[in-house]
Amino acid sequence: NTTLEQEDPEIYELIQKEKWRQYSCLELIASENFTSQAVMEANGSALTNKYSEGLPGARFYGGNEHIDVIENLCRTRALKAFNLKDTEWGVNVQPYSGTTANFSALTALLAPHDRIMGLELASGGHLTHGHQTAKKKISSSAIYFESFPYQVDAITGLIDYDKLEVNADAYRPKLIICGASAYPRDWDYARLRKIADKHGSYLMSDIAHISGLVAVGEQSSPFIHCDVVTTTTHKTLRGPRAGLLFFKRGEKGTRVGDLEEKCNFAVFPSNQGGPHNNTIAAVAVALKQVAEPGFKQYAIQVRKNAHAVAETLAKHGYKLASGGTENHLVLWDLRPIGLNGNKMEKICDALNITLNKNAIAGDTSAFVPGGVRVGTAALTSRSLKEYDFIQVAEFLHQAAQLALKIQNKSGKLIKDFVFALEQDNEVKALKVK
Ligand code: PLP
Repeated sequence: NTTLEQEDPEIYELIQKEKWRQYSCLELIASENFTSQAVMEANGSALTNKYSEGLPGARFYGGNEHIDVIENLCRTRALKAFNLKDTEWGVNVQPYSGTTANFSALTALLAPHDRIMGLELASGGHLTHGHQTAKKKISSSAIYFESFPYQVDAITGLIDYDKLEVNADAYRPKLIICGASAYPRDWDYARLRKIADKHGSYLMSDIAHISGLVAVGEQSSPFIHCDVVTTTTHKTLRGPRAGLLFFKRGEKGTRVGDLEEKCNFAVFPSNQGGPHNNTIAAVAVALKQVAEPGFKQYAIQVRKNAHAVAETLAKHGYKLASGGTENHLVLWDLRPIGLNGNKMEKICDALNITLNKNAIAGDTSAFVPGGVRVGTAALTSRSLKEYDFIQVAEFLHQAAQLALKIQNKSGKLIKDFVFALEQDNEVKALKVK
């Protein structure tokens, strides 16, 4: 019964340091959030000791009477959180992460080498939506399936649905994937359904980033038009790290008639082993919180805060992909001021502001992306409002100007830039405390 601190002071100490880093920095990574104490308590519970391969009521191990109740509760809460009837939708709550939820969806819907179309990484898409480069297939979603990505328009920054339609007519994909990791706008699911229907394609939406907003009606619902919906649970949904896989129910013999068996089988035994019951319980706790009235207020505030960041940066004359935001993130195009995302990320790190470099449509190098992604979900959980985010955006403005000044002195190389910023007195003085 020794505590972590007594048993392993080294790890204990590192956890304390990371906790302090999270607490003392301005956390602007769009895919992160601060989950509640209750979620962390469930996540760190005795449930981690239990094996429970299979589904509630049909396990490969004994002793699952409580685990079954927890998993069923999680499934019920997942449907409730997204306002879904259990006669129309089902959900598998076992995916360990967004990546395994997505690969399970692909395993369920496709045969090897079937064709998929997802949003290109450089346009804001995710690796798991078929990412490959000219030289190499990167994601297993591109290794085991044939991928032909679609893009955002390089000028408007918006999904080019017309071009997607033309390409889908030629490519005839078995699956169209919508959803993104860095797209500041809402999705036209009705248009995507029409495109998919021309070729009898499945339509899948990965709402990992926006699921907390979707749950409370702050982004359009993909459930009206899609066959399968996946999400992570740790971004705007504010739960532990995990994934959910929703599948539509329908008459046997129709496109969606057998999705339940296919999706469940794809998660276990095809792609995973024993469910992480501690995580499933923690997801259930987070989903209970999503259904409470305060969560709607949270989601509204997340969007208002992103809007405040966008407006403030735009006032300073900066270019934003798509010109602004409708969700929880802003994609800041640094190319017009002659800076890249790497350097902006580095200077922000030095100033205790945490964000990440991100490709902007039209970027030619994945290693030196032209922008950064700024998200508001995490700091909104810490009660920051619009006026706070205006100040955050002012810090970002100062950081960009300082980065330009240092770049002028240090030249183009990132290592010289990092060395120069470590010596810079203005950086030391501006560090956010
Ligand atoms: N899908 C999208 C749209 C994401 O942005 C991410 C991660 O950021 C994932 C899937 C993968 O989630 P995970 O890191 O849990 O595997």
